[in-house]
Amino acid sequence: MAAAVELVDLGVPATVYEAAGSLGGRARRVSRHGFMLDNGQHILIGAYTQTLALLERIGSDDRHVLRLPLQWRFPPHFDLRAFAAPAPWHLALGLLTARGLSITARLRCASFLQWCKRVQFRLPADTCVADLLVQHRQDREAIRFLWDPLCVAALNTPSQEASAQVFLSVLRDGLASTRAASELILPRTDLTSLFPEPAAEYVAQHGGEIRLGCAVQRIDHDADGFRLRCSTDEQCYDVVIIATAPSQVAPLAAHLPQLGAQLQQIAALDYQPIVTLYLHYPELPALPFPMIGMSGEFGQWLFDRSAISGQQGLLAVVISARGRAQRLKREDLATRVQAEVSALLPGIGTPDWVQVIEEKRATFACIPNLDRPANQTGLRGLYLAGDYTASDYPATIEAAVRSGRCCARLAHDEAGAAPSPEHPTRAEPASAAPHLAPGSH
Ligand SMILES: Cc1cc2nc3c(=O)[nH]c(=O)nc-3n(C[C@H](O)[C@H](O)[C@H](O)COP(=O)(O)OP(=O)(O)OC[C@H]3O[C@@H](n4cnc5c(N)ncnc54)[C@H](O)[C@@H]3O)c2cc1C
Repeated sequence: MAAAVELVDLGVPATVYEAAGSLGGRARRVSRHGFMLDNGQHILIGAYTQTLALLERIGSDDRHVLRLPLQWRFPPHFDLRAFAAPAPWHLALGLLTARGLSITARLRCASFLQWCKRVQFRLPADTCVADLLVQHRQDREAIRFLWDPLCVAALNTPSQEASAQVFLSVLRDGLASTRAASELILPRTDLTSLFPEPAAEYVAQHGGEIRLGCAVQRIDHDADGFRLRCSTDEQCYDVVIIATAPSQVAPLAAHLPQLGAQLQQIAALDYQPIVTLYLHYPELPALPFPMIGMSGEFGQWLFDRSAISGQQGLLAVVISARGRAQRLKREDLATRVQAEVSALLPGIGTPDWVQVIEEKRATFACIPNLDRPANQTGLRGLYLAGDYTASDYPATIEAAVRSGRCCARLAHDEAGAAPSPEHPTRAEPASAAPHLAPGSH
């Protein structure tokens, strides 16, 4: 959708093919128990500059998100709050006054961040986050309550396996940049209403088209351009952006041998799950903050959806990356997490329902030296967009937005460079593919 918005803004009437009946992909609305939930609780941060600019452009303004100053709380063990001061003091003062860290641990955190700045957040050679933290003599508590949760939340990969280089990019843009960049941004609406639906409206109003429930089955390339076959018809386009999840690219590209190298890169990716548990209580005590860390065995973050989105009685618990949760049956996991919530919020009572949603391939595993595919392919006019393409960001909404916008600009420039009068240029996102739509450009 980011690619499609960018294309229509560039005057290209993009057509989006979306296989599902509604928009959003891995960040979408799901309806359960009469509530609009999401396939997983998401969080954005102030450093998502392109996502936030895009939301503004399509008219999904600040009322749709809750902006909170950075607070990293694991009651009763740890509490770090950014100060209302300009960078770097917002964080420096936060670290100095953090509860749950010894003086030495705080100084070592600060000195680690100083070192990151000195090397401009670039490592000579990538390693795993856990090793980098040991090299910089980070204390056990700092690792347990600050660095490890940050790594798992941002990279969806445990620190023992996660890329230190990508982690440093997150620190650079999220923690060590401006105070606004470190803000936590929580969607007040469901994710489909937050971005893809208003984006679809914007695209339609600006000459594009959205084809829902229209899975592209195959893409062929010949002298006429790219033929997209879906269940109802076949259309020909000059430019196509494949904007699916990485695991969905191979069947589409089966007849495009020029994509061989990128398909190999995609095939080498491993994936990590994310589980979200929604727990609904008849009555909910006020939580100290809308998002708090959990330090038990399973739950990692607890979100107060009544404070965030006005959904009375609703909590969301997030468990990122592969771990113990995958070894339990869903009912058992629900029981264990419910007990952890009760320990954190004594007197909360029993939920009247619990909904467990597991996304098994939530993101690619963000390991060191990962060879991610480029946006441009070996085939002129064909691009790959999505959170998995080459970038110094982990698999996030911001990475997906940047990738989509970049493909749109590449597609537009290429189309502009060689417009064919007898064969008009077209572009499509088949959640596929931004292409330039038939006969339009
Ligand atoms: C549970 C969970 C929690 C997450 N939490 C966060 C978070 O807190 N913050 C954050 O920034 N990121 C988070 N992420 C990651 C974020 O959701 C993804 O990075 C982002 O949604 C990826 O977007 P995308 O456009 O690259 O791919 P997708 O969202 O996967 O979109 C691909 C689309 O292609 C469609 N498609 C597939 N095949 C075809 C076909 N043949 N024809 C037509 N359409 C097709 C799919 O239906 C889908 O709509 C989370 C992800 C999950 C799953």
